[in-house]
Amino acid sequence: MTQADPKISTHLIHHAYQAPADFAGPQPAVHKASTVFFENVQAMRQRRWLDKSSYTYGLHGTPTTYILEERLATLEGGQQCLLVPSGLAAIATVSLALLRTGDEVLIPDNVYGPNKTLAEGELAHFGISHQYYDPMNLEDLAAKITPLTKLVWLEAPGSVTMEFPDLIAQVRLCRDKGVTTVLDNTWGAGLAFSAFDLLGDGSLGVDVSAHALTKYPSGGGDVLMGSIVTRSQPLHMRIKLAHMRLGLGVGANDAEAVLRSLPSIGLRYHAQDRAARQLAQWLGTQAAVAQVLHPAMAEAPGHAHWKQLCASEQNPGGVAAGLFSVVIDAGFDQAAVDCFCDSLRLFKLGYSWGGPVSLVVPYELHSMRSCATPQIRPGTVVRLAIGLEDVADLQADLAQAMAKAFG
Ligand SMILES: *Cc1c(COP(=O)(O)O)cnc(C)c1O
Repeated sequence: MTQADPKISTHLIHHAYQAPADFAGPQPAVHKASTVFFENVQAMRQRRWLDKSSYTYGLHGTPTTYILEERLATLEGGQQCLLVPSGLAAIATVSLALLRTGDEVLIPDNVYGPNKTLAEGELAHFGISHQYYDPMNLEDLAAKITPLTKLVWLEAPGSVTMEFPDLIAQVRLCRDKGVTTVLDNTWGAGLAFSAFDLLGDGSLGVDVSAHALTKYPSGGGDVLMGSIVTRSQPLHMRIKLAHMRLGLGVGANDAEAVLRSLPSIGLRYHAQDRAARQLAQWLGTQAAVAQVLHPAMAEAPGHAHWKQLCASEQNPGGVAAGLFSVVIDAGFDQAAVDCFCDSLRLFKLGYSWGGPVSLVVPYELHSMRSCATPQIRPGTVVRLAIGLEDVADLQADLAQAMAKAFG
C-alpha cells in the first residue's frame, strides 16, 4: 500500500516539524506526559523505570520532575528525592515503605496531627504498632525504643506548640540503637538547619527528610506537594519501590509552580522569619498573652536546642520559619478567643502556612496530646502563620482584634 497524504487529523498529531533544541530561558520546560515514546521495541524492553538516565512512563518522571527532584535534594543537603502529591503523602509513603506487620513506629507527641491519624488508622490495620513519645524528654524516647522499633519520626519544632527537641541527641540515640530516623522537615525547609549534617562536620544526620512542599517551596498557598529526600541509595530504593507500587506522582503544572517559586524561597523564608519575630516579641508584651511559643524567644520550650542547631557564629541571631503560637491567658474563655480570631481582618482563618497571606488557627490542645505538657502554660493555643503583608499592618490588625476580644 502506498502512503497517501495523511488526513489533517493525522497530520496534526504526527507533524514533521521539530522546534530547534537550543532554546534557553529562566525556567525549565514543562513536560506533560503519561505516555513516553521509545525509539524501538528493543529500547522499550531494555528500559528500566528505576534508572533515572532516561524515561519510561509519566508516573516515573519527566525532565520537569527530575529537575525539581534534584533541586530539592540540593536544598535539603540530600542525594535523592521523590515527589508525592502532598506533605501527608510523603509521611504516609515513608511509613508504608519502611514498616511491616509486627514493627513499631515511634512518633513525637507534638507531631503534625495527621501523622498520628495514619498510625491509628492504616498502620494499626496492617498490624504495625505505634507509641507517642515526649519530644522534650530524651529518656522517654530511649525507654520506648525496643527491638520492634523500626522507625522514629522526628519534628523540629513540633507542630502547633513549637517545642524544639534536642534533635542532635535524638538522632544520635536512634543511630546508636540502629533505628531509622525520618524528620518532618517542613519547618526547617532546608534553610534553618541541615537535616543531613546536624553538627556541620558530616558525622550525624537523619536518614530521611519528609517535606510538605505545600508550605515554603510552593510559597503561594495554591499547590499541594511533598518530597522525600535521602542520602542513601539503598534506602531511597526501598522508598521508591513503595512509591511506584502505590502509584504516586505529581502533575507537571504543580511541579512547574514549585520550580517557579523555588528561587525566591530564601528571600521569603527570611522575610517571614523577621516579621514573625517582630510580631512574636510584640505579642509577648500584651496582657492577654500568657506565653509566646516561638523557638527563637528565650522563654520558648527548647529554645536552647533551637539555638544550638539554627544559630551559628556567622549568624548569631539564628534562623526560624514565620510560624509561631501564643497561649491566650486562661482567664479568657473560648468565646473570647474565637472573637479574637474572627475579628482579624488581614489574618485569614485557615490551615497551612508559608504562603503570602497570614493565617490564624485556634487549637484545643487537650484533645491533641497523650503526654503531659508542663512546658505550655494554661490557656488557649492560637497559631499564627505570618505571610508577606507589611508587618506594621499585621501588628495593627492583631491590636484591633485583641482590643475587641480581650478589652
Ligand atoms: C502541612 C504540613 C504537612 C502536610 O502537608 P500537606 O501538603 O498539607 O499534606 C506535614 N507536616 C507538617 C509539619 C506540615 O506543616
